[in-house]
Amino acid sequence: MGPKKRKVDTENRRFLTELTEQYCFTLPDRPQAVPVCLICNKTVVVIKSGNLKRHYVTTHQQFHKNFPLGSEARKEKLQEYLTFYEKSTKLLVRCMSEQEESAEAALRVCGTLSKHQKPFSDSEIMKECMLEVASALFEEKKDVVAIQSIPMSARSNTRRTEISATDIKSTLLELLEKAPCYPIALDKSCDMVDDEQISIFVRFFDMENKIFREELLAILPLKGNNRGEDLFKAIDEFINNSNIRYDKIVSLSTDNAQR
Ligand SMILES: [Zn+2]
Repeated sequence: MGPKKRKVDTENRRFLTELTEQYCFTLPDRPQAVPVCLICNKTVVVIKSGNLKRHYVTTHQQFHKNFPLGSEARKEKLQEYLTFYEKSTKLLVRCMSEQEESAEAALRVCGTLSKHQKPFSDSEIMKECMLEVASALFEEKKDVVAIQSIPMSARSNTRRTEISATDIKSTLLELLEKAPCYPIALDKSCDMVDDEQISIFVRFFDMENKIFREELLAILPLKGNNRGEDLFKAIDEFINNSNIRYDKIVSLSTDNAQR
């Protein structure tokens, strides 16, 4: 490592310390991360100390009064916030993989129903059957519970209506704004009852209620000949017209989008 690189590292570290100590922001340790306010979980897109300062000065005057710069109380409070933030993001990663599994299970059921030209609304009956079978055959309670958590009813209940970007509940958007990151899941439906459409789901950690949630963001009709390009256009248009932020999307998974 040359002296130049070392100098940059030192400067970065100094900047990061300033970011946290003065303006109460943290920078998540992942590529293209944006600073997150430790007090209110808001994010600031451009990493410039001016932006961070503006947010801190305009939003957190009370905090500044209660925990003056350089005080022991402020140091302790910031450490507390940092610990909580790190814990909640770790929890997010772990629970995501469990959620991914049950989401995959749901998608597989939808795939099977679609293969046999059955409407997706039958997935609720499927789930009921699986629960009956599992309780009869398996000793392990947790296997039965796993089936219970497969997110099938949400999909079948909501998918009949077309929901546009402007219809998204403002509370959901507020919650998403507070979430540090979220994966997006696409579910392309093509059963015999409906026209072709794509459902967009978001999974996130609800900071207010301290729970993980999966919510339907939109159901978009697919126009054209459904090549990947049309699909991308529909999603891109939706994301740009909503408050969903590309820099917060950690993954984008699809089900049979290439068909
Ligand atoms: Zn804040």
